[in-house]
Amino acid sequence: MKEHLRSMLHKPLYDITPFTALDYPDHLATIFWFAKCDMQCAYCYNKDIVFGEGKKTEEDALSFLESRIGLLEGVVLSGGEASLYSNLIAFCQKIKKLNFKIKLDTNGLHPDMIKALVEGKLVDYIALDYKAPKEKFQVLTKNKHFDRFSMTLNFLIKKQFPFEVRTTVHSDLLRVEEINRIIKDLVKRGYEGTYYLQPFVFTENTIGRVKKEKNSFNKSLLPDNFKIVWRI
Ligand code: SF4
Repeated sequence: MKEHLRSMLHKPLYDITPFTALDYPDHLATIFWFAKCDMQCAYCYNKDIVFGEGKKTEEDALSFLESRIGLLEGVVLSGGEASLYSNLIAFCQKIKKLNFKIKLDTNGLHPDMIKALVEGKLVDYIALDYKAPKEKFQVLTKNKHFDRFSMTLNFLIKKQFPFEVRTTVHSDLLRVEEINRIIKDLVKRGYEGTYYLQPFVFTENTIGRVKKEKNSFNKSLLPDNFKIVWRI
């Protein structure tokens, strides 16, 4: 099947959020939510997106973008996991032709795709989730490929690409000692950006049916010589 026809029929997007002033630093943007993910994080509240089918085609997304030329500056590729989409490079090329900036939210499991996007100048900013230290990674995400995440992180650091590292904190799933292990690892690898911590916000319908946090998270045990920002 020709690429054009395939992209018209395929529905990679679960949904489109028309406007956000919060999800792309310093930019007014739209969010494209890609269906499917290769993790199943216990605290994930996007169950419908992770397990559901896509509902919108590339063409739906691109005609929406055309209607926003001059009104929005950027597109956030989120999900689910956008880098799972095999046609992502061609899709980003089409977005770029419309002169939008692209931010990718990713779990980092597809270093080859991320490398291709970065080297092709098809992405402008990346938010990379550092889910958990290596020994806790599989328990929390149900995916054993810390090695792939690690390759993505090393690549972005080495490339000095504009990106941020972030972790969602559920204090019963990740203790402050484990966050400190992540920080130690980031220092060792030479990460010099800000480390964003996002507190888990309780909702009933998470993938792992996680409960409200019982443990408190002792922020005073975090190092004060590393740039940490709580994103609330
Ligand atoms: S929180 Fe985890 S399971 Fe949910 S979309 Fe992100 S990486 Fe996938």
